Amino acid sequence: MKAAAGKSIWDGIAIGRLRWFQKREVQARSTSGLAPEEELERFEQARARAQVQLRSLYESAVGEVGEDNAAIFEIHQMMLEDEDFLDAVRSVIRTQRGTAEHAVQVTGENFAAAFAAMEDTYMQARAADVRDVAHRLQAILAGAEEKPDWDEPFILMADDLSPSETVQLDKRKLRGFVTRGGSTNSHTAILARTMGIPALVGVEADPAWDGRMAVLDGYNQCLYVDPAPSLLTAMEVRRRADAEQASLLQGLKKKPNVTLDGTEIQVFANIGSDADVGLALQNDAQGIGLFRSEFLYLNSGHSPTEEEQLAIYRRVVETMAGKKVVIRTLDIGADKKADYFGLEREENPALGYRAIRICLTRKDLFKTQLRAILRASAYGTVAVMFPMIISVREVRDAKELLEDCRRELTGQGCPMGRVEVGIMVETPAAVMIADELAREVDFFSLGTNDLAQYTLAIDRQNPRLDPFYDPHHPAVLRMVRMAAEAGHRHGCWVGVCGELGADLALTELFLRMGVDELSVSPSAILPLRRRIRGLDLRLPPNS
Ligand code: PEP
Ligand code: MG
Repeated sequence: MKAAAGKSIWDGIAIGRLRWFQKREVQARSTSGLAPEEELERFEQARARAQVQLRSLYESAVGEVGEDNAAIFEIHQMMLEDEDFLDAVRSVIRTQRGTAEHAVQVTGENFAAAFAAMEDTYMQARAADVRDVAHRLQAILAGAEEKPDWDEPFILMADDLSPSETVQLDKRKLRGFVTRGGSTNSHTAILARTMGIPALVGVEADPAWDGRMAVLDGYNQCLYVDPAPSLLTAMEVRRRADAEQASLLQGLKKKPNVTLDGTEIQVFANIGSDADVGLALQNDAQGIGLFRSEFLYLNSGHSPTEEEQLAIYRRVVETMAGKKVVIRTLDIGADKKADYFGLEREENPALGYRAIRICLTRKDLFKTQLRAILRASAYGTVAVMFPMIISVREVRDAKELLEDCRRELTGQGCPMGRVEVGIMVETPAAVMIADELAREVDFFSLGTNDLAQYTLAIDRQNPRLDPFYDPHHPAVLRMVRMAAEAGHRHGCWVGVCGELGADLALTELFLRMGVDELSVSPSAILPLRRRIRGLDLRLPPNS
């Protein structure tokens, strides 16, 4: 048995024979026996055929991965209408008197290199799209259109896969794929994640493995070639459990989160990293209600740069394809510490220097994050949320810094979308001044984990206090109600993102309070949906 590590794009288990996908190299002859006018005509015909292919690819991708993710194929169609690109191809055909294939190859490479050299990461990513379009045209011109086709379930191995190759793969047989190249940030990765295909990139795959049995373990980011029988059995058990969960999900997928009397509530997912977003989609989350961004800081040996953060936020936002993503700003301190922050030891860390208190005193650190969040808003629907708020002053200061960042980015010509601003309501102080706070923001999200800790004066980290820690305590639930009512009085939407959001014993109560959104861990979405759909608020409470 051989094990090869990679980076997981989507967690899941795939079992099957490995198949090496060799892209057919299109030999672009530079000299043509035809007149330039005839080569130009060949090019026009290939372009028309590519347009037809891309239109149908777009339509099938809309069904599989939704409009926003399918938009990549509209971009490819637009490239085929780009006058600069077309003029360049035509000019190469005329001046070099070569084949249309050769002209497309030369122009494709030139344009891809120009995009790759741009500073903006979005524009850099367009280089791969140009190559994809050029390759499509070359394949049509050379009569070499081909997609992999095997007659038994397989795990595909390839050097790399383009977005269009990924969408065209026959999903009835494909169990997963591994590529040598590729990044977890690419459109290919986003598509695989959205389609729920277990996949690894950056694997030292060997074409000689073609035909061998393998297990792709997305959870542990590993490909096992010729797996030992015991591993195969264990993985098969895990795969079946996943499949059972998935079929349960299928029954509820696309069904609204609506009670029997027609009351609707949004069910979002809590995530701690971009790797969790596939799980959120797999469980049909309507959005991300809490992205605990501090894990980016904790998982890295340094404070992540604006570009590093942008890449991660963008991946999440693009994968969610227009659905709302609430990014909570750095909530470090207390139990979440990283050495490089150099935080001093404190007597009472839960009441100490943490979260917004750190951000408002280390403004450079905070602004780096705010800039990355604002820039990510160009790629979908983003909201920003400030943790551990106890005063109006803090909210105003944080909003002012956000506006400073927006102004700077506008000056630099960075595209941005509208970003809702909200706060975590997780301190009794925030509840008591909820009316004043609600005037400052678009939404409240109730952090019931800390709200219970601070309301009950019980350290949530101390297991000895578990018998006393009662998150159903009437004081906690009354706090939730007070905050929800105050939020609604001032036009805010109100969510719950603490663990109580997934507590099925409280779902009815939250619905009766008029809570608009519950954000829970991805695996809790399905049971919650089932609970919501079984409730009838016309009946007396808890009947
Ligand atoms: C909370 O306090 O309820 C919350 C969601 O935040 P965290 O658990 O990350 O402190
Ligand atoms: Mg909290």
